[in-house]
Amino acid sequence: MIIFQKDGLTVFQSALWKTTSSVIETNDLILVVDPTWLPHEVQEIQQHVEHIRNGKDLYLLFTHGDFDHIIGYHAFPDAKVIGSKGMQEHPRKQYKLDLIQSFDNEYYVERPYAIEFPTIDIVIEKDGQQLVLGDTTITFYLSPGHTHDGLFTFIEPLGIWITGDYLSDFELPYLFDSAKAYLETLQKSFMILNKYHVEVLVPGHGQATESKEEMERRIDLAKDYLERLINAVSKEDAEAVLGLKKEMSFPSNFTKECHEENVAIIKREYS
Ligand SMILES: [Zn+2]
Repeated sequence: MIIFQKDGLTVFQSALWKTTSSVIETNDLILVVDPTWLPHEVQEIQQHVEHIRNGKDLYLLFTHGDFDHIIGYHAFPDAKVIGSKGMQEHPRKQYKLDLIQSFDNEYYVERPYAIEFPTIDIVIEKDGQQLVLGDTTITFYLSPGHTHDGLFTFIEPLGIWITGDYLSDFELPYLFDSAKAYLETLQKSFMILNKYHVEVLVPGHGQATESKEEMERRIDLAKDYLERLINAVSKEDAEAVLGLKKEMSFPSNFTKECHEENVAIIKREYS
């Protein structure tokens, strides 16, 4: 379902986990980001791309290698694929594919394309690395913390910032990698917000925003939550840790597991 459309950017949101997929159209290219989840949702994105493509080169960006973001990889077989070095060298590719397979089996989902871990054609290795195609400049920053293989992507001249699984309007930080790296990535977010003229921020889950105050609020929200969690875990304050768990939206077994993983990672890094 399209939830945002303006100046060459179309954001789709899945019914599952509010996961977003973006399609960006410039004079020089079409860029598809994390096409996902259900077959008819991926098909809607394919149809949109076919409709606007007009012979342009197609690029496919993965913000990170989590299974919900890579599930539509083979729906765009002629695209050049962009991802981080960490994703290219992902140590658990088969595990991610197994998650997709078990999801599809559990819900009898059939897809008209094969499921594979993406092969990356354009590998992003460092902060500030750019892809310049005609008038379009795409600048990348590594964003570890949630996962080791995250990427921030800024597209000029449109001013679109694709943040992956950071800076959601509702989803609190999930650490599958490192709390320290996550805080550094949030610092990098402030830098990006100050360095560039960001017209719109698109997170991996939730709503896009054009408001600078809202972008700042989201950085502060994540930073404040993580700092309070680190503090509570370091002091072994069980009550405060439980309170922080309850702040997560959509409480479920999934958020419970994410919270437990957050606590385990913080214990490992801060004691
Ligand atoms: Zn995600």
